[in-house]
Amino acid sequence: MHHDVIVLGAGLAGLAAARDLAAAGTDVLVLEARDRVGGRVEQTRTPDGRTVQLGGEVVGNGHTAYLRLAKELGLELIPSYVSEPGRMIRATAEGRSSGDPPHWFGPGDAALHERLSGEFTALAATVDPDDPWSHPDAAALDRLSVADWLRSRQATPAVVRLWDIGQLALAGGSYERISLLAALRKSAAVPGSGTGDYDYADWEGLRLAEGSATLAEVMGRELGPRIRLGSPVAALEVRPGSCALRLVTGETLTTGAVVSALPVGPLRDIAVTGVSEARLASLYRQRQATAAKFAAVYDRPIWRDAGLNGLSEAEGVLGSTWPQSEGVLSALIPPERYGVLLGTPPQLRTPELLAEVAAMFGDEALRPSACHLRLWGTDPWTRGYVTQWPPGEVMAVGPLHGTHEPPFYVCGSDQWVAGYMEGAVRTGRAAAEEALRRG
Ligand SMILES: Cc1cc2nc3c(=O)[nH]c(=O)nc-3n(C[C@H](O)[C@H](O)[C@H](O)COP(=O)(O)OP(=O)(O)OC[C@H]3O[C@@H](n4cnc5c(N)ncnc54)[C@H](O)[C@@H]3O)c2cc1C
Repeated sequence: MHHDVIVLGAGLAGLAAARDLAAAGTDVLVLEARDRVGGRVEQTRTPDGRTVQLGGEVVGNGHTAYLRLAKELGLELIPSYVSEPGRMIRATAEGRSSGDPPHWFGPGDAALHERLSGEFTALAATVDPDDPWSHPDAAALDRLSVADWLRSRQATPAVVRLWDIGQLALAGGSYERISLLAALRKSAAVPGSGTGDYDYADWEGLRLAEGSATLAEVMGRELGPRIRLGSPVAALEVRPGSCALRLVTGETLTTGAVVSALPVGPLRDIAVTGVSEARLASLYRQRQATAAKFAAVYDRPIWRDAGLNGLSEAEGVLGSTWPQSEGVLSALIPPERYGVLLGTPPQLRTPELLAEVAAMFGDEALRPSACHLRLWGTDPWTRGYVTQWPPGEVMAVGPLHGTHEPPFYVCGSDQWVAGYMEGAVRTGRAAAEEALRRG
């Protein structure tokens, strides 16, 4: 079978690309390894009709491509957990505190944290997120980890710890191992009202009323027979005029152009020929933070009784919790603790995670009506969570990041600054636009 364009992967990036290509009259086929669309966005439903998000969940006002697509699809956005009243908890081995300052802060730490947040915001404003390589100090900023930069600005260990517990809550990897240039680039990509490295409201203030995976489900329904599920791609031969694709079953398809919307891990498993060594080296160099998501379903928001908002930053196996919707609590296990989770016998994982939740929100947390644990970091078709940039990596991946080599087009959240659903939608639509422009 021959098609004008074949899109690899039916995550948000591949679906958004295919939708625009189809709307322009292109004969497009999407090949998806799994038996469902959505990739890293996935949802299930409770018996009483609530959706439970097992992957990507919240967006912010700065996520313009995502918001535009949701509007086109007629989907409603509502405030996320950010509007939940109450105090957040920070939990470490030596204690817990709710609200600010955290329990390990000493005199002067709060003012120092505020000063460094301001400095970070000012420095981020000097970075062009689309071209961080043009920054006059790009290489030096990339060599430094965020934690090293903080220490170079006289941060105390207590302040570094606050920044790191926040970063581990996001599960993107410790700031001891994240490039300063990458963190500045991410911050510059969504300049908001807040200061510091990550403003929850700017990045996470909204969610789809019907559940975030609904975005993928609606696009999947629109594309219908243009999507082939259960069709992992094994090899790709790129040639001007006609490319050839081999599925794991041995079946071969031909196409005028290929849009890869695969995460960087699974892409490395596909035998690719006809793409320049430089482009492949840049793509193959990219990496992802491994993480797992845990969701516990309760009949009611159990955190409210104690004046808490369900939000926590923690140094257990869990890195964070937040209220996903009425009575549903989300949690992330960050890369630094993912190995501990894998080493835990499967039957003990949920009870041990619930015990950590109960230590913060009380014993009612031990009695959910359902729990879901999704090990994205070792899922064969994802092998990660969000893009991770250790020191030196922005320069090593280089300006080829996110670029196309027609008839080979590349999209997916890894091809934006920091992953996220915004990155998937933004790069997916941009890849379709470029493929259409080139005919
Ligand atoms: C636990 C978790 C929580 C998250 N929370 C948020 C959040 O709150 N907000 C946010 O914005 N982002 C969040 N993200 C990130 C966001 O979900 C992803 O960045 C985004 O959905 C990725 O979309 P994508 O299309 O680039 O990739 P994917 O969704 O990974 O899609 C790639 C597709 O390619 C398929 N595939 C892989 N290999 C092959 C092959 N060989 N052949 C054919 N198909 C293949 C996969 O099955 C998959 O469907 C979260 C992610 C996770 C895992």
